[in-house]
This record gives sequence, C-alpha cells and structure tokens, in this order.
Amino acid sequence: MSNTKVAVVTGAARGIGAATARRLAADGNAVAVVDLDESSCAATVSAIEDAGGRALAVGADVGDGAQVETAIARVAEELGAPVILINNAGIIRDNLIFKMTEADWDAVMAVHLRGAFLMTKACQAFMTKEKFGRIVNLSSSSAQGNRGQANYSAAKAGLQGFTKTLAIELGKFGVTANAVAPGFIQTEMTAATAERMGISMADFIAHSAAQIPVARVGQPDDIAATISFLCSEEAGYVSGQVIYVAGGPLD
Ligand code: NAP
Repeated sequence: MSNTKVAVVTGAARGIGAATARRLAADGNAVAVVDLDESSCAATVSAIEDAGGRALAVGADVGDGAQVETAIARVAEELGAPVILINNAGIIRDNLIFKMTEADWDAVMAVHLRGAFLMTKACQAFMTKEKFGRIVNLSSSSAQGNRGQANYSAAKAGLQGFTKTLAIELGKFGVTANAVAPGFIQTEMTAATAERMGISMADFIAHSAAQIPVARVGQPDDIAATISFLCSEEAGYVSGQVIYVAGGPLD
C-alpha cells in the first residue's frame, strides 16, 4: 500500500516555500505548489517532477476565502485529501510606525494571519477526517520585535498563538501544529530588506553572518529540513512548539 500523503505549501513559487515543496516531495508526498499566480509555480513543479515526484501548480491568494476554498477542493480532487499544510506565503511592507500606512498593516495581516487561518480551516476538515495532520506555520525571529516591522512582527507573533491554539484543538484528531521561526534566510525577501536599508545584499549577508553564532546566514533548505521532520509520522508527539531556526539561540 502506498504511503503517499498530500501536502499543501503556500508561497511555494520561490524561496523557503519552493525549497519546502521540493523537500516534502522528496520525502514521498504529493505536493500542491500554491502561489498567487499559477504560472509562477511552474519552476517548482518541474523541479519536483524532474526528481521523480508528484506536484500540482495551484494559483490562489491565500487571503481570499473563495480562492482558498476552490484551491483546496481542487487539491483534494486531483491529488487527494490534504493532510500536510505549510502556511508559508508571506509579504513585507516595512516602515517605521510613524510612516506605516493602514494599507501596509492590512496587507501583511491579510497574507500571514488571514491566509494561515483560511488555509488551515479548509485543510483541517480533511485532516480530522483522516485522523492525521501536520500543520507548520512560518513565524519569524521578528516575532520578538524588529525595527521597521511593526506589522510583520505582530503577524509573526500572532501566528505563534494561532499555532498553539491549533495544537490544543486538533491534537485529539492526530493533528499536530508547530511554528518554525527562521532567522536570516537568503531569499528575495531578505534581498528586498537590504534594498530598503540601502545596502548591498553581500554586505547585508556579511554583516548578519558576523552576528550569528554559526557564522553564516541560513538557506531555504535549512528551513525545509526542519519542516520535513515536523511533518513526519515520527514527530507526532511534537505539537504547539515554536522552533527557532536561526543559527543560534532565541526564545
Ligand atoms: P519570498 O521569497 O518573498 O516568497 C514568498 C512567496 O509567497 C512568493 O512566491 C509570493 O508570491 C508568495 N505570496 C505572497 N503573497 C501571497 C498570497 N497572498 N497568496 C499566495 N502566495 C503569496 O519569501 P521567503 O523569504 O521565502 O519567506 C517565506 C516565509 O518565511 C514567509 O512567511 C516569511 O515571512 C518567512 N520568513 C522568512 C525569513 C527570511 O529571512 N527570508 C525569515 C523569517 C520568516 P509573489 O512572488 O507573487 O509575491
């Protein structure tokens, strides 16, 4: 009997989401590669298929309830019941509080918090029925506060509370929920931060690495490896945790 499970990874066109989708596929799962634009998922899907895995490109805005419903119904129809969910889609709209607009605030909440809520609500229906589920939410070291990120840090701290509540509510159905909170990971998101700060990405990396105990910045595969463990069957007693993957201690 096949042990293939169906995983949904949001924001999987690039960065941490793409690495996570590839890793979960390599672990033997069929993976729905979800991003705003279906065509932007092509590279991740091809990489998975070229490695012998199974993937489906799905275009959806995670902050839109109707689009999420349609997307998850399509995943269930074409791949099977989604029992692994990685809420990874994210945006930044950084600014100091006195310059932050309502639109900056709302946009970040819509993707990180509302998106995670809508995707989780849609997928938990399948998980509780299957009596198995793994939910991983992408938090951030910024949850502890970060200059210029009042909106983002609030959303990432909010996701930690969301995660713990899911763990409490869904545990009896065989569903675990955990948060992975990355430190500096080299992606287009951190490249955009370097641009906002007016420094080159190379300088940003060098400056950051000098302050990280393992003396390097993180790569998307560092996060994918942690998520892979949390999604495994053997991680069934790990739930409601926030795991900082930041090259050093944070709490
Ligand atoms: P990224 O390179 O910017 O990728 C984010 C992906 O999410 C993009 O493909 C983006 O699509 C997609 N996305 C944005 N809004 C969406 C929406 N409404 N619906 C569906 N997809 C959407 O970011 P990353 O660095 O890989 O970060 C991934 C996650 O890790 C985020 O939650 C981020 O906050 C978190 N994180 C990252 C770091 C880091 O250092 N990089 C650190 C801590 C936490 P478009 O390209 O179309 O916008």
